[in-house]
Amino acid sequence: MDDYLSAAIRIVMAQAKVRVMSEDEMASMVKKLAASIRCLGESSDAAEESQIDASTVKNSIREKSVTCLVCGSVFKILSARHLASHGLTPEEYKEKFGMKPKTPLVAKSLQRMRKKKMQDMRLWEKRTQAKTAAKTKKVKEA
Ligand SMILES: [Zn+2]
Repeated sequence: MDDYLSAAIRIVMAQAKVRVMSEDEMASMVKKLAASIRCLGESSDAAEESQIDASTVKNSIREKSVTCLVCGSVFKILSARHLASHGLTPEEYKEKFGMKPKTPLVAKSLQRMRKKKMQDMRLWEKRTQAKTAAKTKKVKEA
């Protein structure tokens, strides 16, 4: 018996302990699992050649671009929608590659622009608030 199959059987046996499963269900689950485990084994062999280490992860977020560590595509913003095409949420992606949960998946220059925009907005808000406050004061005085 090959490893994929025995691994799949172990998983299904564990499942069968926690919920009621028909024989058919178990058989098809073993089949499906064995196939996907085999698939995983093959893809991890391929991944070993281009191993992703910490510096690759760090370098994936650059001044003007963000590189998707799953497929190598380059973006300005690595969107949740793109990650969904790999079956990942941004949280899962960051966890998978050992990034901090708060890491923004955005090019550094864009991160700065966003930050500045936020600051500008806050300043503007403050100014408007001050103006409104002054106005109210005037109205009260009049
Ligand atoms: Zn990708």
